[in-house]
Amino acid sequence: MGELGYLCIGYPEEYGGAGVDKITECIYMEELNRISAGIASAIMVQGGLATNPIFTFGTEEQKERYLVPAIKGEKIGAFALTEPDAGSDAASIKTRAVRDGDYYILNGSKTFITNAPICDYAIVAAYTNPEKRGEGINLFIVDDGTPGFTKGRKLSKVGNRSQETGELFLEDCRVHKSQMIGEKEGGGFAQLEHDLMVGRMIYAARSIGVATAAYEATVRYAKERVQFGRPISRFQSIRFRIAEMAMLIEVMKSYTYKVAWLLDQGKKCMKEASMAKLFCTETVQKIVTDAMQIHGGYGYMMEYPVQRYWRDARLYTITEGTSEIQHLIIARELGI
Ligand SMILES: Cc1cc2nc3c(=O)[nH]c(=O)nc-3n(C[C@H](O)[C@H](O)[C@H](O)COP(=O)(O)OP(=O)(O)OC[C@H]3O[C@@H](n4cnc5c(N)ncnc54)[C@H](O)[C@@H]3O)c2cc1C
Repeated sequence: MGELGYLCIGYPEEYGGAGVDKITECIYMEELNRISAGIASAIMVQGGLATNPIFTFGTEEQKERYLVPAIKGEKIGAFALTEPDAGSDAASIKTRAVRDGDYYILNGSKTFITNAPICDYAIVAAYTNPEKRGEGINLFIVDDGTPGFTKGRKLSKVGNRSQETGELFLEDCRVHKSQMIGEKEGGGFAQLEHDLMVGRMIYAARSIGVATAAYEATVRYAKERVQFGRPISRFQSIRFRIAEMAMLIEVMKSYTYKVAWLLDQGKKCMKEASMAKLFCTETVQKIVTDAMQIHGGYGYMMEYPVQRYWRDARLYTITEGTSEIQHLIIARELGI
């Protein structure tokens, strides 16, 4: 995909991207997820959190060293915020970066990191000033092979299995100050705000992709499977459920494209992005559950693809801010 220019399509052409708008990015994510949610996840991180902070806040040198090769697929990136004791409450991370001359000494451990087992570099979130909860965080680019930076276990997941997820450890890992993203200490979370908003739109698009795959498989199956002398697609309860799936997919698309359009207009849409993420990731759960039900016993067998859609979609209400966290964000944005 890197060779063909399809890996990180959102970046400007001068860096090797395709310079597409957010609506195009949504459709691209839908199509990737329609075929393989796991592969799509790895690509989403590569084109998102593993490169965007460098594109937006990095130096030209960092862009040359990391962004350009990442867009070409020559370097694989990871983004490491989550820790064993810090998930939704990301401000409680324990990873520390202590200044020592021209270097920072990083210590901490990260888990659930997409692309970690195969990454050439990771963007690591660490406190430079732990006194300032949330605000005293910085992002550092850490190269694979840096002494003190090690890859832990590759984690075995329920779904999205074609994407590699793992642990990363930092033990007295010396990183030159030029590897910090941004010029001053602190403000790392603020650097992520926009990316997280875009990430929520991407998760809505991912849900549409898996929902579409499940819907298409269900329509095919319902037309082929004969019981009581006729295809099950002729039974009203099955027809109604399939009609509802099609309707929900259309609603998911309309709202997600609205958020994409708002982002393309440069408008802040924290509330809308969270609403799209919450609505689409929860709605796809219903769609994949109904798809499996309509497949009957065959749906529960590994040889039919519908079980994979069900396993893959299950992740979506958990990552990039759980459904509960999306509720909190929406309520906060509503001012209540
Ligand atoms: C496959 C996979 C890939 C991932 N990739 C990455 C990655 O590349 N980089 C990275 O940094 N992280 C990654 N993550 C981590 C992911 O972002 C976290 O799992 C997620 O933020 C949730 O954190 P947690 O798992 O610690 O759950 P917790 O935060 O412990 O939450 C447990 C439960 O409590 C609920 N909860 C927590 N706080 C509240 C609250 N205030 N009110 C109500 N309910 C609450 C949650 O909604 C959830 O239901 C990945 C995770 C997975 C599973």
